[in-house]
Amino acid sequence: MSLTDIKSFDNKELSQFIVEKGYPRFRADQIYDWLHLKMVTSFSQMSNLPKNLIDNLSSICYISVANIEKKLVSQYDNTIKYLFSFADKECVEAVVMDYHHGYSMCISTQVGCKMGCTFCATGRGGFVRNLTASEILSQIHTAQKDLGVRISNLVLMGMGEPLDNFENVVKFLRLVTFEQGLNIGARHITISTCGIVPKIYELADLQIPVNLALSLHAPTDEMRIKTMPINKKYPIEEVLKACRYYADNTGRRITYEYAMINGVNDSDECAEKLANLLKGTLCHVNLIPVNRVEGTNYNPSKDKRLTSFVRVLSKYNVNSTVRRTLGSDINASCGQLRGKNIKDKGGV
Ligand code: SAH
Ligand code: SF4
Repeated sequence: MSLTDIKSFDNKELSQFIVEKGYPRFRADQIYDWLHLKMVTSFSQMSNLPKNLIDNLSSICYISVANIEKKLVSQYDNTIKYLFSFADKECVEAVVMDYHHGYSMCISTQVGCKMGCTFCATGRGGFVRNLTASEILSQIHTAQKDLGVRISNLVLMGMGEPLDNFENVVKFLRLVTFEQGLNIGARHITISTCGIVPKIYELADLQIPVNLALSLHAPTDEMRIKTMPINKKYPIEEVLKACRYYADNTGRRITYEYAMINGVNDSDECAEKLANLLKGTLCHVNLIPVNRVEGTNYNPSKDKRLTSFVRVLSKYNVNSTVRRTLGSDINASCGQLRGKNIKDKGGV
């Protein structure tokens, strides 16, 4: 018999589960507190429960935990990168950043990714499996306990494509925004996607006002298809339409991610085309000099190019910011540490 993933239950589901097992409803509240406020990792720590309930839960349920496999602290900016492992030893990466206004965490939603973007270390490594809602949540639990801080901002920008693991991600959003839990406001959460169009509409209709970031990375279909295979299925025009729907429906501004690759997508002509796509919409463009990934010959754009690109965009009143990767000494961009760990252990 497979064990039940108790930390993925929301409070209603947990109540139902506990009542069905013949225990009073208030026990469910106590258990929910232990799991989501005190963030315990074993049933034996639930000291206000009767022994028979603890024994019963231990025999039919498990509490998912993100174990720290590796932890790297950047000397430059206090960015902390974790490699977490789950019960089946599969690993994902997460990064905690210390900003002036609080701690922000970048978490993973899948082990690997199916989308195959050519510039991305995760995409190059292929897909292994989806994370459960509790595994996504446990990354935050472990980091908060390890660092003794409260994470106040979240970005789903680690390994994986969040909208390709839709059900678990939505479940996770419900758990993490719930008052009797981490209680992180939807407005402090950003989901980044390569552009799975039907799921953008579905998310918009759920009315959970999280921020949406679209990984655009090229201003034309012809160019985008070369680096992002998803563009064959969902071309730029359809993705932008979905993003506009998202913005209209949730009132949230869309962020467009644009990795600047030397000599590939960073010309002034590209900037003109990008500006023409986005002008007049409520948006912001993040220009990120591409991180070097082993096995590719992509290089980050030169500073002069970045400045010029920003200037062209601003001519069309399209706001943009150049984002330098934090923690550049600790492979802080996604997929790089896991790839290295597999190699160190004699894997691919
Ligand atoms: N799958 C989602 C979220 C995870 S990737 C998505 O693609 O949006 C998080 C961000 O990192 C995306 O914007 C992605 O395009 C970007 N990224 C991936 N590899 C990169 C690299 N080598 N340099 C810069 N950004 C990269
Ligand atoms: Fe997947 Fe995002 Fe990487 Fe593309 S950029 S391969 S969608 S994780």
